[in-house]
Amino acid sequence: MKADANAVVRFPQGKRKALIMSYDDGSEHDRQLVATLNAYGLRATFNLNSGRLGMPHHIARDEVQALYQGHEVAAHGVNHLDLTTLSNEEIDREVIEDQKALADLVGAPVRGLAYPFGGYDERVIGRLAVLDLAYGRTAHATGRFGLPDRPLALACSCHHNQALELGERFLNDDTGEMALLHVWGHSFEFDGFLSADPRKDWGYLEAFCRLVQGHPDVYYATTVDVLDYLTAARGLMGWSGTGQLRNEAQRSVWLSHAGRLLEVLPGEALDPMDALPAD
Ligand SMILES: [Zn+2]
Repeated sequence: MKADANAVVRFPQGKRKALIMSYDDGSEHDRQLVATLNAYGLRATFNLNSGRLGMPHHIARDEVQALYQGHEVAAHGVNHLDLTTLSNEEIDREVIEDQKALADLVGAPVRGLAYPFGGYDERVIGRLAVLDLAYGRTAHATGRFGLPDRPLALACSCHHNQALELGERFLNDDTGEMALLHVWGHSFEFDGFLSADPRKDWGYLEAFCRLVQGHPDVYYATTVDVLDYLTAARGLMGWSGTGQLRNEAQRSVWLSHAGRLLEVLPGEALDPMDALPAD
């Protein structure tokens, strides 16, 4: 493996940008949302309350696996309780039992969580760290495209009420830095239910999907995909070019160097003595 200090990390296949879409509560409107996303080749994360599955206007247990195939299912608390109001033991139960029930339904580990009501504080974050959650998604909107620095207080770029506006800015971003657009919301809002802006309906979702889909420089992924990749890449980010550095992750990390793309395979080492010629 040849590289030097001028190499910069990119998303998989050398893409510079990534899109995360994250939707909460598992309402029946998820069916139309998933159909729309699938039609545009987009992937999302669905944060579900296992205790509400099968209730009126919610997704049924027995449709979870097939409906969300190809997307990520994450926890949102068994009963959608504000975790900041619970004891440590109650937090553990709301999170662990939700993870376990959802994992049983999808047949795969459930590693992330969206905070019910967006409620979190340092004590809650501490419990999630003990429970080894991969991330805790907040409802905080930054209006920016920076990479997450604290997965258990994961901020978003915007609520989907702002998705078209932010989406255009994201696609026009030409800073050369890695950029992440992270949109969150609820599928029932597209149906005008509890929507802050009823014009942001299914047509608005379609317009957003048309805008963001099919760009060769965008990595379309779930929340846990992006965070896993960034964890793998972190060891190679900011590499000074001195001392050998190995990709310790189980997955490839992509670097861009002088216009060339380098795939660092799992276990492969970067050796500064073996630097690429400048070109
Ligand atoms: Zn919710």
